[in-house]
Amino acid sequence: METTQPKYQISAWRGEFSDPHIEQAYRRYTEAVTARSLRRGLIVWMVLLLLFGLLDYPVLGSSVDFAILAGLRLATVAALLTLVFQLKRKPSLATDGYAVTAIEIFGFVLFFFMYFIRHDIVSWVIGVAAMMILSLYVFIPNRVYLSTTTAVFGTSGMLYCVWLNGFGAAELIGLLFILALPAVVGFFFTLRFQAGQRQQYALFQQVTSINRNLQDEIKRREALEEELKRQATTDPLTGLFNRRQYEMLFNRERERCNRQHKYICLCVADLDHFKRINDTYGHDIGDQALRHTADLFTNLLRQSDVVGRFGGEEFVLILPDTDLEQAVAVINRLRQELEETPLRSAVGDIKLTATFGVTQVFTGDEAIEAAIKRADQGLYEGKGAGRNRVMTA
Ligand code: GH3
Ligand code: MG
Ligand code: MG
Repeated sequence: METTQPKYQISAWRGEFSDPHIEQAYRRYTEAVTARSLRRGLIVWMVLLLLFGLLDYPVLGSSVDFAILAGLRLATVAALLTLVFQLKRKPSLATDGYAVTAIEIFGFVLFFFMYFIRHDIVSWVIGVAAMMILSLYVFIPNRVYLSTTTAVFGTSGMLYCVWLNGFGAAELIGLLFILALPAVVGFFFTLRFQAGQRQQYALFQQVTSINRNLQDEIKRREALEEELKRQATTDPLTGLFNRRQYEMLFNRERERCNRQHKYICLCVADLDHFKRINDTYGHDIGDQALRHTADLFTNLLRQSDVVGRFGGEEFVLILPDTDLEQAVAVINRLRQELEETPLRSAVGDIKLTATFGVTQVFTGDEAIEAAIKRADQGLYEGKGAGRNRVMTA
């Protein structure tokens, strides 16, 4: 599959992301795995170096040449070992590639010396150098251009050694072929491998990002739905249930109370002389008074009670699982609290009172209108009797 977003473009000759930030993120993402496979490759390399070192002795004996080769081998092993340990501490060394490239180049120097010292296996040395070029590409994870740097160094070094040994142009061209072939194979293999891995990463990132966007979109829509629901069911000024919602809740609670043979009461409340408050302090303070009353009612009543805004400064209170006597007691407490809790406004404390009409809802199919009408009757009587009181009807 092709990567779709242009920002994930992969350079054709480096096998790396063109965007340095994405390349950096990719390396960070893969560094632990790369470091682990690099450590494994380095350990194998180290073991091979030591094993082949054993073969130097039967040919060279305890000579200066043996000491030189052994010294180079041990130095390479020490460098490899250091890197193996450093990689544990700093895995980014694997994805940067510079440290391992330095060791690779140093490793080739050993081959140059072998070429001059191990006369018995000269043609082997060249063969092994070719193998080494291919192996570095395939088994030692490194960036394509750095592996290529090593391959170019190794090839030109070997050519130089052969030239120093007095070989002619024909041999040099032959050698160039022998060494260039694994380098070319290794180069294209690694290039395809690295680009392929990055393509996978790019796809994964895109899928992750689409997924994240989708999650965000779902959250946004859920919030929107919640908000729409709130707007559809509540009164914007007070946050109390609007008529449609408290009517629905009334029907639900009435049916439940019917089924469970429980009482349910309904109350209509109207603020006293509210016009005066508006006229004296302004509409804004009037609104504050409505919010204040709504909060007070909501906080004092039970969670299962329903508080709705009926009209301008009128409220509907639905009290399920409550008989008339209990309802009157509860509502009286509300009345008293409202009287004792003035609105604290910028223009000073404003005392509020309300008159309440309470009625018990009869079982059967009584609609809310009938109950409200009855409660209203009580309210009206309460207003006539001097306000700030609870009346039953
Ligand atoms: P009472 O009920 O004690 O007889 O007197 P009242 O002055 O409260 O009676 P009335 O019902 O005549 O007045 C209600 C006033 O409520 C009229 C209107 O100015 C005010 N009102 C209605 N809705 C709102 C509102 O949303 N905000 C504000 N600030 N005032 C409102
Ligand atoms: Mg009023
Ligand atoms: Mg009124």
